[in-house]
Amino acid sequence: QEDVFKKVVSHAKEYGYVVQSSEIYDGLSAVYDYAQQGAELKKNIREYWWRAMVQLHENIVGIDAAIFMHPTTWKASGHVDAFNDPLIDNKDSKKRYRADVLVEDYVAKLEAKAEKEITKARKRFGDDFDEEQFVTTHPRVIKYREQGQAILKRLGQSLEREDLADVKALIEELEIACPLSGSRNWTDVKQFNLMFGTKLGASADSAMDLYLRPETAQGIFVNFLNVQKTGRMKIPFGIAQIGKAFRNEIVARQFIFRMREFEQMEMQFFIRPGSQKEWYEHWKEARLKWHLSLGMGSENYRFHDHEKLAHYADAAADIEFRFPFGFKELEGIHSRTDFDLANHEKYSGKKLQYFDPELNEHYTPYVVETSIGLDRMFLAVFSHSLQEETLEDGSTRTVLKLPAVLAPTKAAVLPLIKRDGLPELAHEIVEELKWDFLVDYDEKDAVGRRYRRQDAVGTPLCITVDHQSLEDKTVTLRHRDTMEQERVPIAELKARIGEVVDM
Ligand code: ATP
Repeated sequence: QEDVFKKVVSHAKEYGYVVQSSEIYDGLSAVYDYAQQGAELKKNIREYWWRAMVQLHENIVGIDAAIFMHPTTWKASGHVDAFNDPLIDNKDSKKRYRADVLVEDYVAKLEAKAEKEITKARKRFGDDFDEEQFVTTHPRVIKYREQGQAILKRLGQSLEREDLADVKALIEELEIACPLSGSRNWTDVKQFNLMFGTKLGASADSAMDLYLRPETAQGIFVNFLNVQKTGRMKIPFGIAQIGKAFRNEIVARQFIFRMREFEQMEMQFFIRPGSQKEWYEHWKEARLKWHLSLGMGSENYRFHDHEKLAHYADAAADIEFRFPFGFKELEGIHSRTDFDLANHEKYSGKKLQYFDPELNEHYTPYVVETSIGLDRMFLAVFSHSLQEETLEDGSTRTVLKLPAVLAPTKAAVLPLIKRDGLPELAHEIVEELKWDFLVDYDEKDAVGRRYRRQDAVGTPLCITVDHQSLEDKTVTLRHRDTMEQERVPIAELKARIGEVVDM
């Protein structure tokens, strides 16, 4: 697993997807830059989301609010008081951990033990293996999983009670039972606020303390009434937004899974109080469908319903994805009640109510939110797509099987050789196609090597121009995933590419 993840990170760097920020200065931890291919992939994911949420929903509109917001926003939203992570230091190793993540790591270790038993049994029983029956009857598997659940339950309860001493006690017990850090010398658990502070204004005394927004949602809430009125929106309706968010994360690991500067794609859906259960279920299903539409395999997704709820929520679930390091949160769906609007009303003194013409009454709408990290989605797509294949002749190829609709470059045009008028015809094809698709031109090296390079970059189609092309105006169209080649008239290229890559 670790090896797979290392490959993901190095492939992302080698092919112009993601690099450490300020790399020439040895980088900045948990901050990353998207290079030429990465910026395109990210843009395509963004558009794929925007189209599904805004363009295809008559009752959802999109906005683009500022990153800086009036500081009272974060008082009202609860972030000043409650946007904390519990932090613990190991005195020997001088390493800092997020206490809840550390506890989850212990639980993951137990789960790995359970998985090991399952794999062993699968090998032993072969085709007769009944996994369902095995996991519900095998004493060790049951024990590991029950222990895991009990640990998470205790963690949830302690955090809810703000009983940080018990979180520390739990970590100490776990470290004895299944050592992870190799050291038992811990500090107390402390709460650490994740917001980045900065100042607005030049002179020290008139400067105003600001925060970089830790989520995009609040920019939507403060615009709720403005958008509702000017857009003449009727409940139920949604407001969507894509933009940067900033969190001073304690555990900065796992590449772009957890960053200090990242992008969120969020949608707040405003509804009648009392209808939240129904809409919460609706959006859970709708969002899962969106993920499945990319064809990355339904077995790689699962829901995780939260027992421990954030300060604003009355129900919450994650859509988890199978990353190279296991199932982890990719997107959150939260039933936020009227928590945010009611608090903004309280702190701003402005009415943020909706008049419902059907009920003939005013009320503060309830909200169901869908919130996904663009970068995390990028990692899901990228890591899932990166594959090593053994070919019929025994050789291997590295191929980035990105969903074609998301691939940065849709087609590469390759003249077979660099003379006889082939480059000229290839350039003509590029000129023709570039109005509809991002296409690449490449004439370096033997054509086989060029194919492999395009495979590794994730380009779904290669168009090869040869001598026959000059005579009959046809080219070879090569498909990345199957490596199949077919002869296609140049005049049909646009339609054929469209069939493969359009949404
Ligand atoms: P986690 O428990 O992983 O810290 P969270 O529950 O705090 O995440 P939310 O506040 O619900 O996350 O944010 C919604 C989404 O934003 C997450 O599902 C994730 O995709 C993304 N996200 C949150 N924090 C980060 C981060 N530091 N880096 C990248 N993406 C993030």
